[in-house]
Formats: sequence, structure tokens, C-alpha cells
Amino acid sequence: MSAVTALNVKGLDTWLVQSGERFLLRTINSNGTPGAPNNGDRSKTESATKDLKLKLLDQHALLQSNHAKSVLIVLQAMDAGGKDGCVKALYGGLNPSGAEVVSFGVPSEEERQHDVLWRIHKKLPALGRVGIFNRSHYEDVLAVRVRNIAPPAIWRPRFEFFNAFEQELSASGTIIIKFMLHISLDEQRARLQSRIDRPEKHWKFRMGDLEDRALWKEYQAAYQDVLTKTSTAHAPWFVVPADKKWYRDFAILTVVTTVLEGLKMTFPKQPELQGLVID
Ligand code: ADP
Repeated sequence: MSAVTALNVKGLDTWLVQSGERFLLRTINSNGTPGAPNNGDRSKTESATKDLKLKLLDQHALLQSNHAKSVLIVLQAMDAGGKDGCVKALYGGLNPSGAEVVSFGVPSEEERQHDVLWRIHKKLPALGRVGIFNRSHYEDVLAVRVRNIAPPAIWRPRFEFFNAFEQELSASGTIIIKFMLHISLDEQRARLQSRIDRPEKHWKFRMGDLEDRALWKEYQAAYQDVLTKTSTAHAPWFVVPADKKWYRDFAILTVVTTVLEGLKMTFPKQPELQGLVID
């Protein structure tokens, strides 16, 4: 078992939530493009994203060849925040055979009979693999809090429990990268409206989305607590302005690729193959 180590976040200050600092979402412009090439030029940014996907493919091959680490990418956002789009963008830089996406919805009857991390544990990526969580254990301090599913005495201690859980995961070799995709209330309205207006998008719409939209302020406050209390050196949160999808993709690929490159992985040496010639 390796020790808990801080991730390499050099150059990622634009999106990083500093550990121990009170984080305020209103200080982040959801429509901004900080750190994008040529002051946020769209075509330059999209071309940078393409390059990042190639770099990520290299890193993924290194990860798969070593079996020493696993990568857990957590995606959290308000409805229509772009989690599915991020999954698609990340897969442009991943070998599907070494990655999986897991979506966490309302807990099933069976899941409710267990502690909140039970369903999470079962879906964690094995060494050499990448796991993408589309929602996560953080719903148990977001939805559960905002919708009053459990009282504060139940959800409040979870910040500490999650920090301890992620510390143990990190010590077991999991690189944890957590994203909050930050969209504006207006952008959410536009995206939900287009799901209503366009029949081919109806399947993405749930009436419950409107109930959660009505609780926007409460969700933003709950997110701020999550970001403030659970961004740690070994499992940091990154807040990504996500009104512009092409910028969001650039930002998440920059973060994931930079963190993986920081591991300085190399392919395992296989001296027995030196000079081997096949007849
Ligand atoms: P998504 O919105 O992620 O595309 P769904 O439309 O299936 O997927 O919604 C999943 C729903 O499950 C969300 O409203 C989310 O808040 C809810 N959810 C996830 N985990 C929990 C939980 N632990 N407790 C209560 N609700 C949860």
C-alpha cells in the first residue's frame, strides 16, 4: 500500500479549490474561459482539446501497463450541467477497455439498507483502470440535504467520513479528481427548455429537474459547503465554468491530463524481451 500523496496540481490553480479555504461559487463566472488558448478563442481551444485527448490516451496506456494506480473522476453538477458531455469528452482520451462510467441515481431499496458508501465501494476502479462517477457519494450531502431526505445530524458528519474514505482510497493507489461543473441558472433554463422543445431530447428530461431547479439557491449553498470541506490535497475539487461546452471540455481534459502526467509513469521494463526475435 502506498502512502497518501498530494496530487500534482501545478498549473491548475485556475480551477482548483484550495484546501481549507472558504469557497464562494459566485466568485466564479460560469461563462468564463480562464486559461483557454488565445483568450478563449473557440477554434484554438477545440484544437488544444484534441491534443489533450491524444496526451490522455498515452497516459491511460501507461496506467493500464503499470497496474499500480487507478483513477477516479467524480462529476457533480446541477441538472443539465454537462456531466454526460464530459463523459463523452473524456472518452475521447481513454481506451474504453480500461475505463467505465457509473451513474448514481436515487438509491434503490437494497442500497438504502446499507451505509451510503456501500454502493460506491462496489464500483471503484481497480488498479490500472479509470472510473468515472456520474454523480457520487456527494449526493448524500447535496440532494439528501437540500431535499430534506435526512436531518443534519445524519448528513453533516459525512463530510468527515468522505474525507477519511478518500484518504484511505488514495493510500490504496487511487488518484481522485473531483469536478463541479458550474453553470448559471439561465444556462440551465435554456438547456432544460431545449430538452422540452426538441422531441429527440425528451428522454433527457425529468419533471424532478424542475423541483431541483426551484431549490437552486439551496443547492448552491450545499455545493459551497462540499467544496469548502472536502477539497483535500489527495482528493481535490476543481470547479469548471461550464456554460460553454467547448471550454468545459478543455478544462477537464487539462486537469486530468496534467494530474496523470504529474505521476511520471513509465512503461514497465521487460528485460526478457530484449533482443527477442520471433521466428
Ligand atoms: P442525471 O440527472 O444524473 O442525468 P437522473 O435523471 O437519473 O440522472 O437523476 C438522478 C437523480 O438521483 C438526481 O436527481 C439525483 O439528485 C438523485 N440522487 C442520486 N443519488 C442520490 C442519493 N444518494 N439520495 C437521493 N437522491 C439521489
